[in-house]
Amino acid sequence: MKQLTFLLLVLLLPSCSVEDDSAPLFIEPIYVNNPTFKLKLDIIYVLPNEKYAKSKYNIDESKYLDYLNGCFFNRHDIGIVLGESRTLVNPELYDLKDDRGNESAIFERETKGTCKPDRLNMYIIPRTNTIAIAGLGVTQRTLITDEFLFKTTSPHEIGHSLGLHHLDVDGNIMSRVKPYLRKEFNSEQVSELIQQIITINNR
Ligand SMILES: [Zn+2]
Repeated sequence: MKQLTFLLLVLLLPSCSVEDDSAPLFIEPIYVNNPTFKLKLDIIYVLPNEKYAKSKYNIDESKYLDYLNGCFFNRHDIGIVLGESRTLVNPELYDLKDDRGNESAIFERETKGTCKPDRLNMYIIPRTNTIAIAGLGVTQRTLITDEFLFKTTSPHEIGHSLGLHHLDVDGNIMSRVKPYLRKEFNSEQVSELIQQIITINNR
């Protein structure tokens, strides 16, 4: 039987629940030197006003890239490289809890002018400023709440922002069921990711 018959549901939902990753599986990192398919990632810290700096978040960016590359991407010959580390002052996006139910629409609207087409744009907001979401992924734009950076929410939302839909198969990164089992992309998804990376790099 074809693998497709086992796919229970392939849905594109705008957000992923905050129950994600309550007890994440340990994933043995695999690093590859100079992977073939490189994707630039900008980390964009969302701030409420000009008085704050990105240090408000206290995130170790190189450790984060190591997490993404070692646990999820290098094993598929994909390398995420840091583009720019920047900030966005945007009180509406920062306080996303004020817009419950419209998180995805607000995210798209408020980031329109600041995302760059030749890379992946990752926006970070405090987990405490949302109610129901751990992260969001729309075309080339990812929103991750800070407490979920080092969880499978990150590759899951990056997957969405590179065109992957939900695939509710145990263990798959794009699954919404048993999020604690999320571990890997399947070969079809890897091909899609690589195609999308090639497209982005040609922009
Ligand atoms: Zn999702």
